[in-house]
Amino acid sequence: MELVSRQRALREGLKAYFTGKPCKREHIAKRSTSNRYCRECKREWQCLYRAANLEKARATTQKWAQANPAKCNATVALYRQRKLDQVCACCSNKEREAVYQIAHFAGTAVDHIIPVSKGGMHCVHNMQLLSCSKNCSKSNNYDPLIEGLQYLQNLGLA
Ligand SMILES: [Zn+2]
Ligand SMILES: [Zn+2]
Repeated sequence: MELVSRQRALREGLKAYFTGKPCKREHIAKRSTSNRYCRECKREWQCLYRAANLEKARATTQKWAQANPAKCNATVALYRQRKLDQVCACCSNKEREAVYQIAHFAGTAVDHIIPVSKGGMHCVHNMQLLSCSKNCSKSNNYDPLIEGLQYLQNLGLA
């Protein structure tokens, strides 16, 4: 790298200069003409800043998920299905989210009647609430939405 003094950088309007001497933290790097700040230090600081903010953002998301578990489940499912391009056009996100809300209050899981792996759509008409894990057999008589609503009514929420 060509040595450029700060005076010359100022005179020629260059954004950076280079003395070839290490900074306080022993980087041999260009420095900003305006504030003499080492570019390598700046880069490291930016990395740390980004990482710190990422953690902050993650913590915020985690708090939100804990406060809104049903919304979180609905959002996660929607993103997953969108990736697979298996989101129906007949339901709104609000309608789909309502199923997850009911499932949450009823303490059940949302299941796709036609599994997503077999091309089932992310659609309220293809959703049911299952009170046990996916491995358990699905009953045809079980109407999870009605049961979920009854549950909500019992709680005085619907
Ligand atoms: Zn430095
Ligand atoms: Zn639909």
